[in-house]
Amino acid sequence: MTETERHRLWQSVCGEIELSVTHAAFMTWFKKTELLDVTDAGDIFISVPNIFAKQQFEVKFNSLVKETLKRNNITPRAINYIIGNKIEKQSDNRVVSIAAPRLAKKELSPTHQQSLNQRYTFSNYIVGGNNDLAYAACQAAATHPGSKYNPLFIYGGVGLGKTHLIQAVGNEILRKKPDMRVLYINIETFVNEFLDSIRFKKKGFSDKYRNVDVLIVDDMQFIVGKEKTQEEFFHTFNALHQANKQIIISSDKPPKSIPTLTERLRSRFEWGMAIDIQMPDFETRCAIIDAKAGQSGVSLPRETTEYIANNIKTNIRELEGALNQLLAIAELRGREPNIDTAMALIGNVKQNRPNHLTPKHVIQHTSKHFQIEISDILSARRDKHIVLPRQIAMYLLRSELHMSFPRIATELGRKDHTTAIHSIEKIDKAIKLDFVVREQVSAIRDALYA
Ligand code: ADP
Ligand code: MG
Repeated sequence: MTETERHRLWQSVCGEIELSVTHAAFMTWFKKTELLDVTDAGDIFISVPNIFAKQQFEVKFNSLVKETLKRNNITPRAINYIIGNKIEKQSDNRVVSIAAPRLAKKELSPTHQQSLNQRYTFSNYIVGGNNDLAYAACQAAATHPGSKYNPLFIYGGVGLGKTHLIQAVGNEILRKKPDMRVLYINIETFVNEFLDSIRFKKKGFSDKYRNVDVLIVDDMQFIVGKEKTQEEFFHTFNALHQANKQIIISSDKPPKSIPTLTERLRSRFEWGMAIDIQMPDFETRCAIIDAKAGQSGVSLPRETTEYIANNIKTNIRELEGALNQLLAIAELRGREPNIDTAMALIGNVKQNRPNHLTPKHVIQHTSKHFQIEISDILSARRDKHIVLPRQIAMYLLRSELHMSFPRIATELGRKDHTTAIHSIEKIDKAIKLDFVVREQVSAIRDALYA
């Protein structure tokens, strides 16, 4: 694609987006963007002015950008938001990570160089009583891959730093030995590629996973209920383990608590070391907030740090989110971030449910997301493309508005509330097993609170 074509494409994308977001949002976030590159593989590189914009795009606007690109005949594989307007020229600042896949191309094979996010390092990982064992074990695995803890199994709740830590191992190994073949994957990628390899009789699947020195597998819990994949993973595991290759796995639960994991896979996972990560205590939360603010070049007043740490206790991703919003608001207003802004903001976060959210909103947003009519959701039609949205709408009425089953049934024009119970149970399960459903639900939820 030539520069002119890129420019035209981006103009057209922004033109469409301008119509679908508020004027203020468009001026604040989209005005200063630029389309830097579209690779043949579908990797998109978009330049954004600063860390706040990057955060906004990743969290809020990513699906909008993706959909709009699609309407303009580009199907993105991954969208990368780059701070500044040069992809290559970033080697001297800390956002080098985002551009790194392109820089590293010369040295590493395509399979391995793209898998890690170089933002995740040991040096920017804050250690506290909640994660010190996991950190030490990961460092040991990075220093002596394949010999110490194999497999190394890290588990803990959402947003507590598992992905960061296990990727830090990969990045550290590559830093010391750039020719090591390190492969990081989410188990969902493994599942999908495995199914594709069967469906389309593709070759090379097992080789890809067996020709590595270090295999890092994230979110192992999603292998639940997928017996064929478990078997395939079992063989991959054995091949690597016998060759003394390091295997690192993360999951939301310890091996023994992952339901329906075949016994032989479970016992393999228990061969090495399984360590948990807990929610950090107050001091560690403060240290994380200060470190993250510091990375954005901001030093927060002590009371502000403590206020955030005191009020967000569930996970670190949320902590980061609140901090980034605080910094973004302060920047927009041209003031230093302070406790008043933090209180206003976190008050909102905690309240979580905007007053105006009604069952109608939920149904509207759900049908909009699936591009079907509201009347279809409310109808008795049993077509597949309508049933799933209907079930998701019921699920969201329950999770977001805490409505009773009979009321949910009534809202959707059903007489029998057992339908609501079944639907909600079904989506509840699907979210754990099927990442497409999970993404759909979270996209609608984001839209509800946007
Ligand atoms: P998980 O994989 O457990 O859901 P992540 O590794 O994605 O969690 O962490 C969520 C966010 O919090 C990431 O941006 C990560 O960099 C950050 N984070 C988590 N733990 C720490 C830590 N101890 N120090 C610094 N940042 C952390
Ligand atoms: Mg993770």
